[in-house]
Amino acid sequence: MTTEFTRISAAMSGEDLESIERAATVIRNGGLVVFPTETVYGLGADATQRAAAERIYAAKGRPADNPLIIHIAAPEDVERYAVTSPLYYRLAEAFMPGPLTVVLPVRDTIPRTVTAGLPTVAVRCPSHPVAAALIRAAGVPIAAPSANLSGSPSPTNAAHVRDDMDGRVDMILDGGSSVIGLESTIVKPEEDGTLTLLRPGAVTPEDLAALGIEVRLAGAVMHALRPGETVLSPGMKYKHYAPRTPFYLWDGDSAKALSYLKDREEKAAVLCYEEDLALFLTVPSLTPISVGSREALGGFASRLFALLRECDKGPYTAIYAPLPPPHGLGLALYNRMIRAAAHQIITL
Ligand code: AMP
Ligand code: MG
Repeated sequence: MTTEFTRISAAMSGEDLESIERAATVIRNGGLVVFPTETVYGLGADATQRAAAERIYAAKGRPADNPLIIHIAAPEDVERYAVTSPLYYRLAEAFMPGPLTVVLPVRDTIPRTVTAGLPTVAVRCPSHPVAAALIRAAGVPIAAPSANLSGSPSPTNAAHVRDDMDGRVDMILDGGSSVIGLESTIVKPEEDGTLTLLRPGAVTPEDLAALGIEVRLAGAVMHALRPGETVLSPGMKYKHYAPRTPFYLWDGDSAKALSYLKDREEKAAVLCYEEDLALFLTVPSLTPISVGSREALGGFASRLFALLRECDKGPYTAIYAPLPPPHGLGLALYNRMIRAAAHQIITL
């Protein structure tokens, strides 16, 4: 199919609104539209049409047992599609619109293809003005996973989307770079009033705990799934976010990483903190690339997936990066990076 590319600005001029209307018509007619959100780009279809949702799985090459998140314009819009609770509205009050997805019991208005047969549906209300306008104009919830081919790093700009999705979707809305750069936090409210954290994101466990809610991390957040372990979020099973170039993480300080890498004499890209750039520049075989300051991990989060894609286009035989501290936003980075690196961690 031919894919229409349209630049769109958050300012929502007359032309932007026309593009939104065209995209909304594509969605209502069962087509696929890629749109920007504050987390990563989403590959959207009408969540109430089974055939439309099936097209998402086909376009991504996504396994049929990995469910989709539905995107709504306002927290209360979920009532038609899922069963809410006071805890849902406490979360909505604090974090919606924004990068938080909540897993709720599903109603039969949502086809099983969207939930991959689970009795629950994941719901998010994005804050990006283009995403919000598209959902409103479509008048239906939009099912949307990240707009990458299954397994590769999530797209954080329209060029990434074009690399993966040209010819596979009806329309791509180019709204510039994603501000957050990592997918949403996913939580599941439990009957006892606690939350299970299924996937960490920009809404951190510390942010959730600050509401006075007890948060437990699902096992697969910080390690590979163990044999026989039940998977609470099917996406955690799969190889994910991975560049084609072999990717390794080091666990230890940068001086030790330097002596390890110096001896290997590989033509490697080294994703490092700004503070360590000069250190890695002393080794000619290495190409250090700054991920921003270690004191402000937001820069690392917004650049991680773009850097992995860039490194794949460079002449490198390997990519190395430090294992981030597993708390705050660092936990989301940690979770994506151990998967992107297929759990290859060098303990120094
Ligand atoms: P993506 O849209 O690519 O960020 O992937 C969506 C993630 O949401 C996947 O990891 C899914 O496993 C997870 N997910 C979607 N629906 C559910 C659900 N009902 N229960 C648990 N996890 C879900
Ligand atoms: Mg994804």
